[in-house]
Amino acid sequence: MKQIIHRRTDCRACASKDLELVFALKPTPIGDDYVSQDRVNEVQPSYPIDLFMCKQCGLAQITDVIDPDVLYGSYIYVTQSSFGLSSHFQAYAEHVVQRCQVAPGSLVMDLGSNDGTLLRSFKGLGMKVLGVEFAAHIAEQATASGVETIGKFFEHDLAKQIVASHGHSRVVTANNVFANIDDLRSWVDGISVLLSDDGVFIFESYYLADVIDNMVFDFIYHEHLSSFSVKPIQALFASVGLELVVIERVATKGGSLRYFVQRPGGPMQKDGSVAQLLAEEESKGIYRKETYDVFAAKIDVLKQQTLEFLKQAKKDGKTVAGFGASITGTTLIYHFEIGEYLDYLVDDNLAKQGRYSPGLHLPVLPSSAIYERKPDYVLVLAWRFAETFMQKHQAYLDQGGCFAVPVPEFRIVRNG
Ligand SMILES: [Zn+2]
Repeated sequence: MKQIIHRRTDCRACASKDLELVFALKPTPIGDDYVSQDRVNEVQPSYPIDLFMCKQCGLAQITDVIDPDVLYGSYIYVTQSSFGLSSHFQAYAEHVVQRCQVAPGSLVMDLGSNDGTLLRSFKGLGMKVLGVEFAAHIAEQATASGVETIGKFFEHDLAKQIVASHGHSRVVTANNVFANIDDLRSWVDGISVLLSDDGVFIFESYYLADVIDNMVFDFIYHEHLSSFSVKPIQALFASVGLELVVIERVATKGGSLRYFVQRPGGPMQKDGSVAQLLAEEESKGIYRKETYDVFAAKIDVLKQQTLEFLKQAKKDGKTVAGFGASITGTTLIYHFEIGEYLDYLVDDNLAKQGRYSPGLHLPVLPSSAIYERKPDYVLVLAWRFAETFMQKHQAYLDQGGCFAVPVPEFRIVRNG
């Protein structure tokens, strides 16, 4: 039988064996595996989420790797279905073309290109485009819709085949997929193969320093194998002769960075952003174990406050709904050990409604349920979106309801 999980013992960026456990989340099932009715009797196993730091290069990483076929087995995410993303991609494509001075007719590639939304924007700006998307059925749809897409997993050998068939790329992008790659070295080798002499590789990923500063620990889950920061990224690309030249800050995903990488002497000018972030990382101590001990202690205080509140609520015979049926919600429910106190979840994502949460199998209802079932409390698991959610549901407060927000500070919100 195929092994579902393996634990690597070396750093996926530099191959050092000198790894130190800095932060252990409670094990969870696959965080986005919300099951349908016919699977509610199935036991979903939990897997560790232990964050290790490489003492050689500084990469923060999960070493337990779940087989991608299992992890992404129910992979249904298609870019265009996410409201508002298309305009974001249009602005992104225009920004890249301008910032990297890309001439029309140049080849632009996107790794993890999904349905081709980003590449369609580049195509509209006069570029030749090519996508790589491992979900073969999504790749086929993208190709059929006019964005040529290779339905394979990107790695070094595929890069060589692409250069033979399509030539070198002026721009290669990868957004929010780089953190999900186990064999980073094969990817980075492959990117070096793809790039033309004046080529630029651009990728976006959530930022380790922001995870700590903004308390977004629930962003650490099985898909996110690496939590990137500047020091290890610089070393990783240097190991294949590429240079990290510019970094931009992006507000998405609780705090992200956009990295620009090229060959030495490439088209982009250094602007001091890399050096500045490296200095900040040192002063914040994000490569020191003690920083994570403080971080874990802060999270533990929130956990105890949340647990105390929920235990009292149950003792008083109150009902509690949780808002947010997402992967981050799974991390939060398991790490805080609060599953037994929740009666059900609410979420307006149609793909989740009628399903049951990973492992605990809490039913997922539309948010209108908080008016029909009138829970005494709604615990806001999707706390990064707490303000939007609570504003939208002022009427729930007006009918006497009460919100509890567990992070970044535990607080109760009610009328009067
Ligand atoms: Zn390393």
